[in-house]
Amino acid sequence: WKHAPGHFRALLQTSRLHGEKDFLVYENEHITFEEHFRRAATLARRLVDDYGVRKGDRVAVAMRNYPEWVISFSAALAAGAIAVPLNAWWTEAELAYGVRDSGAKVLIADGERAARLASTGVPMIVARGEAPEGARPFAEVLDEVAAGAELPDVELSPEDPATIFYTSGTTGSPKGALGSHRNLGQSPMTVGYGHMRALAMAGKDPATSVGTRRVTLLTVPLFHVTGSFSALTTSMFSGGGLVLMYKWDPGQALALIEREKITGMIGVPTNAWQLMSHPDFGTYDLSSLTSLGYGGAPAPPRLLERIGENLPDRAPSNGYGMTETTALAIGNGGADYQARPDSIGRPLPVVDVRVVDPAGGELPPGEVGELCVRGPNVILGYWNKPEATAQTFIDGWLHTGDLARIDEEGFVYIVDRAKDMVIRGGENVYCAEVEAAMFEHPAVDDVAVIGVPHDELGEEVGAVIRLAPGASVTAGELRAFLTGRIATFKIPVHVWFRHGELPRNPGGKILKTRLRREILGA
Ligand code: ATP
Ligand code: MG
Repeated sequence: WKHAPGHFRALLQTSRLHGEKDFLVYENEHITFEEHFRRAATLARRLVDDYGVRKGDRVAVAMRNYPEWVISFSAALAAGAIAVPLNAWWTEAELAYGVRDSGAKVLIADGERAARLASTGVPMIVARGEAPEGARPFAEVLDEVAAGAELPDVELSPEDPATIFYTSGTTGSPKGALGSHRNLGQSPMTVGYGHMRALAMAGKDPATSVGTRRVTLLTVPLFHVTGSFSALTTSMFSGGGLVLMYKWDPGQALALIEREKITGMIGVPTNAWQLMSHPDFGTYDLSSLTSLGYGGAPAPPRLLERIGENLPDRAPSNGYGMTETTALAIGNGGADYQARPDSIGRPLPVVDVRVVDPAGGELPPGEVGELCVRGPNVILGYWNKPEATAQTFIDGWLHTGDLARIDEEGFVYIVDRAKDMVIRGGENVYCAEVEAAMFEHPAVDDVAVIGVPHDELGEEVGAVIRLAPGASVTAGELRAFLTGRIATFKIPVHVWFRHGELPRNPGGKILKTRLRREILGA
């Protein structure tokens, strides 16, 4: 064994010890830990020998959540390369940007992505689907998977870069977040703390309540950190199974929980919400499910209530994290969560947080300012963006761009994203607060609050609502409901009802720019 603390290679070697247990489950395919290791080691060797990949070279992965995604990610890291997961939802132009920005030397793609990537001219390996001219099929590259497969030799230190994950692009164009081996190596610990804390605080013994082993249903893409660092590395570390889905589908999720005896679900709040809203929800055996972990977007307090009604005696937890914090940084679960359903909880034990004013001065408890995070999970900086790096990472603190307050006991409350405010006549209206109040109404299934241009006030508050199946409510009734719950100036003046789903990105965040364009034509 050649490794140093925190290296992905150590994680991979450890995962092999889980041997013949199922690691990856995709539809009817089951891949054991041993099989995953062998394939990853073989592909790592091919990357080095056939493609000339050396330490620090970038290897991009562009796929849906197939087992080959995991094998490719593992192989790239085992070869000493920087793994670059590209967003599978990106268009041809966006993918080309990711390839150019990262300077990828090799691309590993599925058939659908391969067609969109062919014009980049970068050497490509293609799984599941046709390989364009000049590209090699994944199965051919891996045709000799030796039982004695070992990782190629490469010397790495904990501060060496390991991954470039692109941020969601909610507030601008996506930035490449450069994470180190140390960041990646500590992720199972941060997540483990959060998971164990949520179980223990729900009065559950982690060993008995989880059964013999964890089986996680991953409901979000692996190319976001929630998938890779709240689910994948933790499964590798703990010997737990990871059940993958091509795309999120609540009906299929219900069937998978029953069939695979899923013990925990990891995703965004919408996943849990939609699971419980599904018409067939009551017809499946969901008794194996002990925990529901979600985060990445605001979780309405009513979600916790609904879980209490529909999935009693489970351990729900809300995690706050960013691409820049290698997923989880702050989490709320158990009795803490029941008592403060509107809080994202307390920082995980390895993480420091504080709230600062625009000049960077630390604010006392209760005051709203920008949330800052420090810890071994905070990334090295942005790839090729020295200015953005200098603005965001200051004196060891990551400035999150989220507005928050911290109470006397250290519980953190996200007030809003600094860039998701409606400024109505000089008065700040936090969209997240109005959305949370509207979610309290039983007829509201989903809601997005947006600023509507207004000559005099600058902006007025508007809300786009998707009604719960069979429900009906008027804009007037909604406004009456909100009166007394939130200040009058925050109550939406414009209300639109939509039949279909609100547009969301793969990370579960509502695409407000697109929604604004659709609704306002601007
Ligand atoms: P970009 O940085 O490109 O604009 P993004 O910030 O949406 O996009 P991510 O790194 O995927 O990209 O998301 C992190 C953000 O998600 C946080 O800054 C925060 O606004 C939001 N978020 C994450 N977890 C939670 C949570 N539990 N509750 C509320 N908001 C959350
Ligand atoms: Mg961000």
